[in-house]
Amino acid sequence: MAGPGSEPGELSDSELLLLLEPGDQALQPGDSGKPNSSSDLPLESLKKVLTEDSAAGKVKRKRAQTPLEKYYLKYLCVTDLSTQSWCEQQMVYGRELPQLQAPETVVLLNTGKSIHLARELEVHDVVRVHVTSREDSWAIKILNLLSVIPELQAGGCVRELPVFGVIEDVFLMGVIDELCYSAMGELELRELKTRGRPFMPSGAQKKRDYFQVCLYKYIFDAMVQGKLKPDVITSHIQLRPEQPLGSQIREHAQKVGFTVTCFGDLLELMYLNLTLSDIPGIDCLKIEYSHQESNTLLGTEVVRFEEEKVREKAQHYLAYWKGQREVQGVEIEEAWKCQSCSYSEICDWRKKRAEGPEQRSGPKKSK
Ligand code: SF4
Repeated sequence: MAGPGSEPGELSDSELLLLLEPGDQALQPGDSGKPNSSSDLPLESLKKVLTEDSAAGKVKRKRAQTPLEKYYLKYLCVTDLSTQSWCEQQMVYGRELPQLQAPETVVLLNTGKSIHLARELEVHDVVRVHVTSREDSWAIKILNLLSVIPELQAGGCVRELPVFGVIEDVFLMGVIDELCYSAMGELELRELKTRGRPFMPSGAQKKRDYFQVCLYKYIFDAMVQGKLKPDVITSHIQLRPEQPLGSQIREHAQKVGFTVTCFGDLLELMYLNLTLSDIPGIDCLKIEYSHQESNTLLGTEVVRFEEEKVREKAQHYLAYWKGQREVQGVEIEEAWKCQSCSYSEICDWRKKRAEGPEQRSGPKKSK
């Protein structure tokens, strides 16, 4: 698999890697090509708008930013949504104040990443590729996807498979740990979760993990059904199909059997390969929990996929990102989560909950 050469040490967790790519996920102010605030307008136009609006008695307040805009996000990772399902407020603090995360949590995450990298290296090499544009960064993700399609078609097993899709008009991406065919010929998704403690997780933790794998299936199935058209990617991520690809990207593409010159070529190839490959949707979802220290398997969960429920949950969480509702913390029956939370000392939601229910806003029940 190819990875941007500029980010050593972060190849073990593809979703994290994507989050950290400079200038990739971050939408810089004014990057949209459209004026997004009054300051983008020429002075004369601005005066005219203000005069006309004032004259009509309808000077409008500037619209509040949505969280997607506030954090300059063009897309979300599947893990953003699954983390959100544990505690939305905690997910927001994690984004804003990562330095407050407990050191043991950081160690646990880093060990988990190393285990993922070791598993990835078992099935393919990691190649460093120099990127020269945002389109190059996305070309790597697409090449990683394209390179595993023949293996899947041939009935093989693939690891670290990138998936992209749109739910509720929000672009999502994720990385599936493993896809394999079972003895029955079903396409099976296997998600590996490593744990610091030598026992299976609580029901609440499992619920979060179930949601994650269900989202992967939702997105993957849409991809192989041809719903991920090239313009869906370029319009959501604001990429230029005509952008020439860097020389190292073109060389790498050539090595894996594709002759491409611009980003749009790769998008077309991806669309055609996905839709013409006859790869089925995912039949079975499994989560394997193993103990980090001893590397022993603690247990395997088989997850039932209920499309309507997955969509409803995603809608609820995405409503926060789209600014349709305020951030929520955990409900009283899940207040035990606060005891092990790195942000319990500073958490506004927790403080308001202690003050009484009338202090809080938003729906009574979180999903
Ligand atoms: S203290 Fe509780 S409500 Fe606040 S972020 Fe942590 S888990 Fe969520």
